[in-house]
Amino acid sequence: MSLVVMKFGGTSVEDPTAINRTASIVAGRVAAGKQTVVVVSAMAKVTDLLLRAAGSAAQGDRTGALAISSRLRARHRDTACALVKTPASASALCNHIEEEFDSLDEILRGLAAILELTPRISDLIVSYGERLSSRMIAAAFVEREIQAAHVDSRTVIITDSQFQKAAPIDALIEKRAEEHLRPLLKDGKVVVMGGFIGSNEEGITTTLGRGGSDFTGALVGGALTADAIEIWTDVDGIMTSDPRVCPDALRVKVISFEEAAELAYFGAKVLHPATILPAVKKSIPVYVLNSRNPSNEGTRIISVAPHCKSPFKSIAVKKKLSIIDVVASRMLMTHGYLKAIFDIFDKHQCPVDMVSTSEVSVSLTVDSNDKLPLIAADLSKLADVNYEGKKALVCLVGEDIRGQSGMAAQVFSAIKHVNVRMISQGASEINMSFMIEEDDADEAVRSLHAAFFKDPDPSIFDVDARKAIVSN
Ligand code: ADP
Ligand code: ASP
Ligand code: MG
Repeated sequence: MSLVVMKFGGTSVEDPTAINRTASIVAGRVAAGKQTVVVVSAMAKVTDLLLRAAGSAAQGDRTGALAISSRLRARHRDTACALVKTPASASALCNHIEEEFDSLDEILRGLAAILELTPRISDLIVSYGERLSSRMIAAAFVEREIQAAHVDSRTVIITDSQFQKAAPIDALIEKRAEEHLRPLLKDGKVVVMGGFIGSNEEGITTTLGRGGSDFTGALVGGALTADAIEIWTDVDGIMTSDPRVCPDALRVKVISFEEAAELAYFGAKVLHPATILPAVKKSIPVYVLNSRNPSNEGTRIISVAPHCKSPFKSIAVKKKLSIIDVVASRMLMTHGYLKAIFDIFDKHQCPVDMVSTSEVSVSLTVDSNDKLPLIAADLSKLADVNYEGKKALVCLVGEDIRGQSGMAAQVFSAIKHVNVRMISQGASEINMSFMIEEDDADEAVRSLHAAFFKDPDPSIFDVDARKAIVSN
């Protein structure tokens, strides 16, 4: 019997209507005879609001923090009432919701007294989003006669203790999935669990980083050697660029793991960057699908994508970056100089996206973060340092870009009007990226899209959707 892991993002569970849509999609898989695990995100915006409540409490704004919690309590209560009507189940679910919010409020009050928000407490607070959504959705499924069983993800997704960005421990997750999930699946149950959250070996709550529910879906799929992992979201699949930036973006029908990973890493929010890895390890195909348009075939991510006649598959943008320029004529090219620079980034646990070196300087790009002044202070012991924020990295992904002559010229002539700060094409055969001002990014993406997706390969891109829009 084939096993599918279905992950539904925040917008796919944002309200009773969305949860009902999700339930019918899941019911369809069950009716097709599949063993099914459902991984859900918190309801849309809940994670942001929980973080805001935590931030307010840590600044001593107890009333503000509790007001956010109270609005979230009402939203969950109303959603539960709309979804679950059977008296016994409704009262069990509502009591659970009240108890969870009572305990959240206690934590927020404590935080407002202590005034210190540690990553560990932050993870505990945000975990309520997925804990609540998964409970509620499991109950809603049962109400709709789907044989659902809720599992607390923290008993399965075991991670290290890097709070807010915990790394999964695969061997333990496999063991726990066999112990806690496999028997339920064999028993014909649909397992429902929250994404994003886990716990360390001591049982302390951790999270996998923002957008981490995709990663949970892939981890569970990998651990159970699923036949498919489905990422259900609010767009038709992986598109040729973010449709919010570029309204005429096209659906990519099929893409390789490597290309999808590159896009995710370079800012295509549709997938969490770590999602692909567990799937690659076991060659499990991943599908990106639209819960608002479930009959659309979405994007299939597989090991080797078919040849594409168009040079690029998609354009990603990563914003909120900073460039750091390190200028040191006397030390240039001395043995160990680059190592000394990277040691500083390592010390501050700050990943570097792009590097370029010249005779006297090294430029690096990093996510803008509050450690930058400290990093700059450490670097200034080695050299002169300047850093500037509000930058964006635009990344074009496609097969064998390196092999196509004249490609860079075509890219840069499409955005002649934009000032380009750093260019990289060396690291990967499938990516060409460059750094520009954040304010120029959206327009640059639209110009590149217009230039490179004029005549897209119909075997790879959904050109019929574009034709349908034009003919309407
Ligand atoms: P979910 O809550 O389902 O996890 P996300 O908001 O995390 O959904 O991701 C979906 C969003 O990703 C889309 O609404 C879209 O705006 C954005 N996105 C960015 N780049 C792309 C892309 N290349 N293809 C599709 N969506 C993209
Ligand atoms: N709820 C978490 C977030 O908003 C995880 C996710 O939705 O993937 O980041
Ligand atoms: Mg997401």
